[in-house]
Amino acid sequence: MVTTFQRAYPPTQPAPGLAYWFPFRGTELLVREQGQELSLALCNAADMAIFEPQAALYIGTLGGIPCMTCEVGSESALPQDWKLLGLRALFGCFEDAAYEAARYAWQILYWQRNSRYCPYCSHPMGELFESWGRKCPNCGYIGYPPVIPAILVLVHNGDQVLLAHQPGWGKRYSILAGFVEPGETLEECVKREVREEVNIEIDDVTYVASQPWPFPTQLMIGFTARYVSGEIHPDQQELDHAAWFRFDDLPELPAPLSLSYQIIKTWVDTQTAGAHT
Ligand SMILES: [Zn+2]
Repeated sequence: MVTTFQRAYPPTQPAPGLAYWFPFRGTELLVREQGQELSLALCNAADMAIFEPQAALYIGTLGGIPCMTCEVGSESALPQDWKLLGLRALFGCFEDAAYEAARYAWQILYWQRNSRYCPYCSHPMGELFESWGRKCPNCGYIGYPPVIPAILVLVHNGDQVLLAHQPGWGKRYSILAGFVEPGETLEECVKREVREEVNIEIDDVTYVASQPWPFPTQLMIGFTARYVSGEIHPDQQELDHAAWFRFDDLPELPAPLSLSYQIIKTWVDTQTAGAHT
């Protein structure tokens, strides 16, 4: 049976006893390390006391076992067999549902940390029933954990793909990306970003997949699009190079954990299969 992560919302409390713990120090998650093997902390609240956890939150269940998250003190030394790692480094180390729980834990902690005071009147925020949202008891403002949408787009032209390079990326190239602006659809955003970044026109904007990118609160939404017209002129504010690359002659690509890489890989596989038929 596939393990699932089921979310819970305040003020629900877990059954007492063993729980998976997602303790964060800054942006890093505290995990068990036995030999080469990394695992989530499965223990009682009392076992976590050595890390001086602050305000533990119940975030749901993983395979029926409660999941707790908390911030841990920055001073305490780590006992043997414990390790702090960022979410990027932990990609692929746990099964999908456990990684989903870790992403959720981090974003809920991030929200709790950044929503203590009302952004309008600075009054301490109160809780909202059965939600991570918060409400200002003074002016009535309501806020929820943010999710910031950003698009990725692979522009293809026959057997060529448009890849771009930003200063500071080393040898690595990637597909185009950008944040969704207020008041536009995702398809409009894709066309605008391509126009702004390389000054070409596209069509057939097609959704591929999405990926939460908790650094800190983005949701990447991936598309492909077909080149229609125009010559590539990279926006010098963002890119120092952009060009067409044949599917079998690509530069260095983003890390495999990223949705950008997965979209490029899927397109390349399709081209390769086509070339062999
Ligand atoms: Zn207020």
